[in-house]
Amino acid sequence: MTMMAVVVMTVMAVVMVMSMALIVIMVVVMTVVVMIVIVGGHAHSAPGTGKSGFNSSPPAPPAPAGRRLRAARGRSMRDPMSPDPQPLDPVALAQALIRRPSVTPADAGALDVLQQALESIGFTCRRLPFGEIDNLYARRGTSGPNLCFAGHTDVVPVGDAAAWSRGPFDGDVAEGVLFGRGAVDMKGAIAAFVAAAAAAPANQGSLSLLITGDEEGVAEDGTGKMVELLRAEGERIDHCVLGEPTSSATLGDQLKIGRRGSLNAWITVDGVQGHVAYPRQAANPIPPLIRLLDRLQAHVLDEGYPRFPASNLEVTTIDVGNPATNVIPAQARARLNIRFNPAHDGAGLIDWLKAECAAEDAAFYGKVSLTTKLTGNAFITEPGPFVEVCAGAVEDVLGRRPELSTTGGISDARFIRTLCPVVELGLVNATMHAVDECVPLEHIHSLTAVYGRLIERYFAAFKA
Ligand SMILES: [Zn+2]
Repeated sequence: MTMMAVVVMTVMAVVMVMSMALIVIMVVVMTVVVMIVIVGGHAHSAPGTGKSGFNSSPPAPPAPAGRRLRAARGRSMRDPMSPDPQPLDPVALAQALIRRPSVTPADAGALDVLQQALESIGFTCRRLPFGEIDNLYARRGTSGPNLCFAGHTDVVPVGDAAAWSRGPFDGDVAEGVLFGRGAVDMKGAIAAFVAAAAAAPANQGSLSLLITGDEEGVAEDGTGKMVELLRAEGERIDHCVLGEPTSSATLGDQLKIGRRGSLNAWITVDGVQGHVAYPRQAANPIPPLIRLLDRLQAHVLDEGYPRFPASNLEVTTIDVGNPATNVIPAQARARLNIRFNPAHDGAGLIDWLKAECAAEDAAFYGKVSLTTKLTGNAFITEPGPFVEVCAGAVEDVLGRRPELSTTGGISDARFIRTLCPVVELGLVNATMHAVDECVPLEHIHSLTAVYGRLIERYFAAFKA
């Protein structure tokens, strides 16, 4: 190696070392600048500037004891590395939802409003449309357990719009009361849960929402199909709270832990038409129908079931429509409905009806036929740790123990119960489906606090 080569290589080495030092200095300077920008940005983002419009500080809460408890526990459970929960105003969200006239099957943008609010607090949203119905599944977190809130954004028609004292889709607040179709059934409850989720730490298990646009209608393209799809995909939901308005006289006085099943049946008896004076030339369908209905109605299905009343069968119509006094009609029809407790399942009851119809058919010249439609099986979520999480949350915030009830008609819980235990907890049902449906703002804030406490108790009880 020549002297010249040594000099050249030395110079090159010095230049490389100086370049690397320069790069290190530049990286350090850029990091400092970026950190200053981030810290400065946070300092300027006050509550109320969230782009969704719901991320503002809610008014003073109505249940100070419960809220104090919640705030204290929330702080102790929060991971210092996770971002602060974003405050979200449940009343503003409920108003925005009410202003979308989502009368089944229309969505009118209601799910867009909900999706925007959920995305602003870290949820990943999926639309699950079936037929003409749009549905939404949203989840925050990937680990278990997964606590799901289920509900519907569709509403029943307003009925006589002129009878309303406020526009049914205006979302007006007057004297501390929010008016509008869906205020209690159940846009107010959805808004309360979203606000509770916004305030909950995002680093424990998963929260999800299963929201359909088809509950008040035929309910064929909503929760049932979403549940089937999620099950097929292997999505795990551990427990579910359904936000139907289950409170009766006061907020939180009832939790629904079960519902009766419902089965409809149509019976048609075809005989032979003829002159009443010549009965041998005819086959009157009415006597076999009367005998059959009498037998069905007299049968004691059961004497009740723990926490349920006895099952009952009601004949709801008998139709012959015969305008003549001297004609034996060709056909007689009847319809009945059975409300049944968990002592039965729909398939067993259908078998029983089929056997009774077949027996009458065998004894009759004409034909006895039966059509059935099972609307939902009965279910019960037995009192245990999950029911205690829900009842305890109500008691912590509102200071009263809810009654565990199985009354009322069917709900979408009939679909969800095939996936996981479900409890129903929502607003006071006094004005649901009525003219001037409304909810006191205090109830929305209290329910938000109840759902918040429920989320806390849930992860404390079920965290793996
Ligand atoms: Zn409802």
